[in-house]
Amino acid sequence: MKYSNAFIPTLREVPADAVIASHRLMFRAGLLRKLANGLFAYLPLGLRSFRKVEKIVREEMDAIGALEIKPTVVVPGELWKESGRWDAMGQSLLRVKNRLDNDFVVSPTAEEAFTAIVRDELSSYRQLPLALYQINTKFRDEVRPRYGVMRGREFVMKDAYSWHADEKSLDDTYQAMGRAYRQIFKRCGLSVIPVKADSGAMGGSGSEEFMVESDVGDNTLILCKCGYAANVEKASCAQDFTAQTSIENAKATAANTPAFEKIDTPNVKTIDELCDFLKTKPQTFIKTLIYRAINVELDLSSAPGCSKLERTKPSKDAPEVYTEAFFAVAIRGDLDVNEVKLAAILKASEVALASDADVIRLTNAPVGFAGPVGLTALPLVIDHSVTAMNDAVTGALVKDLHYKHVSYGRDFNAWMIEDLRTVKAGDKCSLCSGELYTKMGNELGHIFKLGYKYTRSMNVSFLDENGKSQIPTMGCYGIGVDRTLASVIEEHHDDAGIIWPISVAPFHVIVVPIKYDGVMKEAADKLVKDLTAAGIEVLLDDRNERPGVKFNDADLTGIPYRVVVGDKGLSQQPPVVEVKRRGEKDNFMLEAEKAAVDLTGRILEELKLF
Ligand code: ATP
Ligand code: MG
Repeated sequence: MKYSNAFIPTLREVPADAVIASHRLMFRAGLLRKLANGLFAYLPLGLRSFRKVEKIVREEMDAIGALEIKPTVVVPGELWKESGRWDAMGQSLLRVKNRLDNDFVVSPTAEEAFTAIVRDELSSYRQLPLALYQINTKFRDEVRPRYGVMRGREFVMKDAYSWHADEKSLDDTYQAMGRAYRQIFKRCGLSVIPVKADSGAMGGSGSEEFMVESDVGDNTLILCKCGYAANVEKASCAQDFTAQTSIENAKATAANTPAFEKIDTPNVKTIDELCDFLKTKPQTFIKTLIYRAINVELDLSSAPGCSKLERTKPSKDAPEVYTEAFFAVAIRGDLDVNEVKLAAILKASEVALASDADVIRLTNAPVGFAGPVGLTALPLVIDHSVTAMNDAVTGALVKDLHYKHVSYGRDFNAWMIEDLRTVKAGDKCSLCSGELYTKMGNELGHIFKLGYKYTRSMNVSFLDENGKSQIPTMGCYGIGVDRTLASVIEEHHDDAGIIWPISVAPFHVIVVPIKYDGVMKEAADKLVKDLTAAGIEVLLDDRNERPGVKFNDADLTGIPYRVVVGDKGLSQQPPVVEVKRRGEKDNFMLEAEKAAVDLTGRILEELKLF
């Protein structure tokens, strides 16, 4: 390919909104342009690398026996109503109508579409296991698209789905996917941190996220030297207290604590104010928060204050849920409630702190005075930490009043006791007791044992060996192609530009004649011809530009091998050309005659490493 025929609009200036290296460099190196917020067009150079990432993903999926299909991006809304996600997905789902007023969805993911296709074809256990995938456009109306294609509105995802007759078969495919993912990221030159996230409470029984470290990552990773790695959303830690495992124990521990009594706390609402006022530490408080949960699947028929709640079905075959329910959540004063864990425990699609009006209505007291003693209007969910508290301060459900000497088991009881705490750096590892530390990370891929969520709601079944009808279990596995590409640049660049790993470089070699004329033109053309014949991808910088400009663009676009063809080198005996490996300091000379063979050898060797 000749540069003069290419469309590589490199930029000196950085777009104002580009704050991370990959975003800046994808624009500056002419890989990408923006159409609107979160909508990007890949230009030819960017697309070449994009296709290479896709190819790697495809090869690794094919290698484990997953089968590619090409469904549509626009999917009937009916399927999403069946699964219940038409309502549950919220505003990130782009819903559209056609001229006949039918509902459609622009796929943000494709569990429904794939499950519908399989449902119609599946009859016998002999067809299982089955793993299908696509590499296709997705749309999510993200609240805050940012960092270029890292978080776009339209992007390409490889999404695979698998169906199984039993748990063992699901686990085999899940493990194979995990191995394929490690291979994909390795081949892209990426160092990933696989983060195990057991999501049992969410209906599945296994989940792993593949993260890259990033200062602007959206995920906090909780890590330990021993290898423990979890997303903070799911992380747990060793408890730093002795939990009371039974009410009898708790009561016995509380025996030496004086009876609880009221303390006047005029205008004292926050834990900090209370600490100042009582001259004590947050650890002695039981913090009680009122949460509003949406679409709660958990059975609340025996929960305090819930007898009048009724279950409804958001759509025809979706599970029954309580559209709205309130919970009191108590945790030791120095700890924070992890809302992802809470939502998982309640099987709710969303949880958020209740409004002031709801808090006042449910606790009969102003905001800031909630407490577990005497609370009957709603179910009390407590963190394990609270079970160890036998001389605590709590809100008294009355304005300007708290209680002291409050003991769990003696003065109040809980409806549920769960791990609700947000793990922090410095907490102890639950595996080895080592000190946990954090890093920020970006999710590139996710593998997930879905279980029966979709197969049940969408009525998928097959006949087992005994002719009995069974529901298959399911897994799903996603990788963001754009985000993976951007992450490669994040990991491989310097001040001058991109340093592509050879596996995903848009070209392997850029040939730069000092002047595209005379002997230099002749030598450059021959080199390009020989390299191309050997299967090497070459860009020939035939532009009538100063060498400095050409070198800068070669650095910026990050093509692994730069070969400079100059008249000085060509006039030596034997004639030589100068080679520079992008990212390395020194250049070296190759005999012009042998340069194509030598470079081909090097590149093929390097490619083997990926
Ligand atoms: P995030 O938490 O970053 O929003 P997610 O949990 O919504 O990710 P999944 O639904 O698991 O992501 O999608 C699978 C993959 O698709 C992600 O790992 C990521 O690589 C990619 N992806 C998701 N959302 C976007 C986006 N807005 N832009 C680019 N890639 C995305
Ligand atoms: Mg998301």
